[in-house]
Amino acid sequence: MSDCIFCKIVSGDIPSKKIYEDEQVIAFHDINPQAPVHILVVPKKHVSGVNELAAGDEALVGHVYGVIARLVRELGVAESGYRVVVNSGADGQQSVPHLHFHVLGGRLLSWPPG
Ligand code: AMP
Repeated sequence: MSDCIFCKIVSGDIPSKKIYEDEQVIAFHDINPQAPVHILVVPKKHVSGVNELAAGDEALVGHVYGVIARLVRELGVAESGYRVVVNSGADGQQSVPHLHFHVLGGRLLSWPPG
């Protein structure tokens, strides 16, 4: 989508602190980190959010989690712990309408979330 900020990061039109990329996903550091480790894992295909996932996207979501499992090891939080968050819609405070998986770690994360 031409007006989507994460599509522009995927295309390279907007720079990012990229830490991983393959044919299906890109991962980069969040511009406004909420924890010592805060990355976003983003499918390259434009899907607005969880509600817009279609039949056939299961493999993509599974791949995202495989990438997350790899990156948390590389980032050193696999053993200490981390959180994967997908904010959805208005109550979920999703601000970028392109599906993305926050991975937060490197500190004790409070629960329940606010
Ligand atoms: P959400 O509110 O769940 O939709 O998350 C969107 C996230 O994208 C926020 O944590 C923002 O800080 C992050 N973000 C927005 N623009 C950029 C950008 N250009 N580079 C990296 N992260 C961004």
